[in-house]
Amino acid sequence: MTIDCEFLGGGEEVGRLGILLKCPGAKMLFDYGMTASDPPLYPAACPPVDIVFLTHSHLDHCGMIPWLTARYDINVVSTSVSREIAILLMEDSIKIGASEGYPEPYTSNDVKIARRRFEEIMFGDTSSAGKVQVKAHSAGHIPGATMYELIGKRTTLITGDLHTLDTRLVAGAKPVKCDNLIMESTYSGRNHPSRAKTEFALLKKIEEVNNRGGTAIIPSFAVGRTQEILLLLKDSRYEFWLDGMGKKVNKIYMAFPGYVRSAKRLRQAVNRTYEVRNVHARSRAAKADVVVTTSGMLDGGPVLGYVDAIRNDPRSAILLTGYQVEGSNGRKLLETGYMEFQGVSEKVDCEVMKFDFSAHAGHDELLAFAKGCSPEKIVLMHGDEREILAGDLRAEGFEVLLPKNGEKFTL
Ligand SMILES: [Zn+2]
Repeated sequence: MTIDCEFLGGGEEVGRLGILLKCPGAKMLFDYGMTASDPPLYPAACPPVDIVFLTHSHLDHCGMIPWLTARYDINVVSTSVSREIAILLMEDSIKIGASEGYPEPYTSNDVKIARRRFEEIMFGDTSSAGKVQVKAHSAGHIPGATMYELIGKRTTLITGDLHTLDTRLVAGAKPVKCDNLIMESTYSGRNHPSRAKTEFALLKKIEEVNNRGGTAIIPSFAVGRTQEILLLLKDSRYEFWLDGMGKKVNKIYMAFPGYVRSAKRLRQAVNRTYEVRNVHARSRAAKADVVVTTSGMLDGGPVLGYVDAIRNDPRSAILLTGYQVEGSNGRKLLETGYMEFQGVSEKVDCEVMKFDFSAHAGHDELLAFAKGCSPEKIVLMHGDEREILAGDLRAEGFEVLLPKNGEKFTL
C-alpha cells in the first residue's frame, strides 16, 4: 500500500495544519485548521475527500472544519471532548473575525452543519476509511488529543500535537510501533525546563507578588493551559479567580471526565476557583491574589481589562504561561515593555515574567518518542526549525522527510 501525501498547510510552519492522504479506496484529511494571526492564515483549499480525522481542538487544527462540511458530504472523526471544544472555538473565531473585520471563511450556520457531521471515536477504537483501519491513541497534548494509526500492510502514525510527559491535566503519550511516523516538531531544537521547577517558580513569584500587596494576572489559553494552572493553584492558599472562555472549557472537561488524568482533582480545582460571572465579580477579582484569564497572548478578551488596571502598579505582575508568537501583543510586551489596549500602545510598568507550561514534547522527548515508534521513515511537520530534529533523527539511522506545503510525497 502506498500513500500519496500532501500538506495543505502546517508543513514547514506551526499552525493551519491540513494533511491530505490518498490510500487505495480512500482520500483522507487529517486536521484542517487556521492560524489566528493578524491577518488570519488559512490552509490551501481542500479537494473533495471521503473522511476527515481531527487530532485535537486547537484552532490551528480544527478551525476550518466548517468550511469543509459546508462543501462536501463528509464525516469528521474525533473524540467527543474534541468535538465539543472544537465547536466552542469555531463559534468564538466567528465572533473574533467579525470584530477584527476580516472576511469570514464560514458562517455560524456552517458551524451548526459541522456539528452534525462529527462521528465519535474513543482511544483504542478503530474506524475505517476504504480498506484502511484507523486506530485512535492518546496524544497527551490536551484532553481528547488523538494520534491516528493507519493499519494496512504497513502502518503509519500521525501524531497531531504531542506531549510525552505527564502533566497535571493529561497523561503523556506512549510510542506506537509503526513503519511511517508523521510527527509534529514544534520544539525541534529546544527543550523545556523541568515542569516541577517551572511550577515551583510560578508559585514562588505569586507569593512574592502577594506579599508586596499586588495581584498576579496569569494570561492563559482557555483550552488546556487554564486547567493546568488551576490544578496547580488548587493546593495553594491563594484566592484565585477565573474569567473568560476557560469557564466553558472547564464545564466541557468535567462533562467528559474520561479524558483528563484525574477527574477528581479537576473537580476539586474547579470547586476552589472563583468564577467571574458579572461586573461586580470582575471588580472583586481585579483586587484578588490571582486572576487566570484569556487570551493567553494578550490579543483580546478580559485579560486586557485586568492588565490595564494593574499596569502602573509595581507591586503587581503579569505572569505569562505560554509561548508568545511573533506579532502577538504578549510578544510586544516582552520585547518593548509596551502593549496595545484597543489600538492604543501603552507602557506597562508592573513586573512581567514568562513561564514555560508548554503542552508540546521538547526536542529530546520527540527524539525518544520517534525511537520508541521505530519507524523506517519519519515525516516532520508543524515546525519552523525542523532541520535540527531531522539531523538528530538521521544520525540515529532514520530516513527523514521535510515536505513543504503543497509538495507531494509518497509513503
Ligand atoms: Zn495543539
